[in-house]
Amino acid sequence: MEYGKTSLIEYFLRIFFPPRCICCDCVLCVDTTEFVCDGCRKDIPHISRHLFVNPAGDSISNIYCAFDYEKGVRKAIHHLKFNDRPGNAKILVDMSYPLIEEYFAGVPAQLCSANSHDIAVPVPIHSKRKRERGYNQSELIARSIAKKLNIPVIAGALVKIKNTPPQSSLAKDERFKNLEGAFYVKKPYLIEGKRVLLIDDVITTGSTLEQCGKVLLDSGAVCVDAFVIAVRRKLWPADGEI
Ligand SMILES: [Zn+2]
Repeated sequence: MEYGKTSLIEYFLRIFFPPRCICCDCVLCVDTTEFVCDGCRKDIPHISRHLFVNPAGDSISNIYCAFDYEKGVRKAIHHLKFNDRPGNAKILVDMSYPLIEEYFAGVPAQLCSANSHDIAVPVPIHSKRKRERGYNQSELIARSIAKKLNIPVIAGALVKIKNTPPQSSLAKDERFKNLEGAFYVKKPYLIEGKRVLLIDDVITTGSTLEQCGKVLLDSGAVCVDAFVIAVRRKLWPADGEI
């Protein structure tokens, strides 16, 4: 195999910084084009439906989701959030998009539908947590999906003003209360009149999306849809799927 100049540089970079499986973090072959090792590929938790309603409220019209929050995808999102793997965001979007693309194009006529979103808005994290982590994983996901949809990302309009305990540390009925008053639209002029695609990594009870959707609608958004990489349905009521 011959390497061009760029490929050669890339090849040597890969010797020192080898590609790793986004799920188990094992080292992959230096010339691989894959992002997941053979062992983890069978652990990607595909789901049969990719369109959901939010069990936590009615601020969000449609939720598009690619995977179950299990096995390999759960590990990849964990590495993204807690093990300094920001590159996992783009890879997870690249894996998700072919699965949900038809839903973006195929939802029946509603206000938010059929490639009609004007802007992508990431679910914000508190500034203190962003300083600790170095990035907001939802913003990285938003940048990748927005590029595919050819819409701008508006990252500074919706902010988190309360540094709340992690939702994962709370019981289901405490999660909604934990987020009351946590989100605020700082720049409503960027939201007013827009069809918003809200972006997050995981939906668990739907409380975060609902609280964000509410303040976006209060600030004049025409409608709000959401895109998430994975759904953790263990805490969902049986009718949370459409
Ligand atoms: Zn692996």
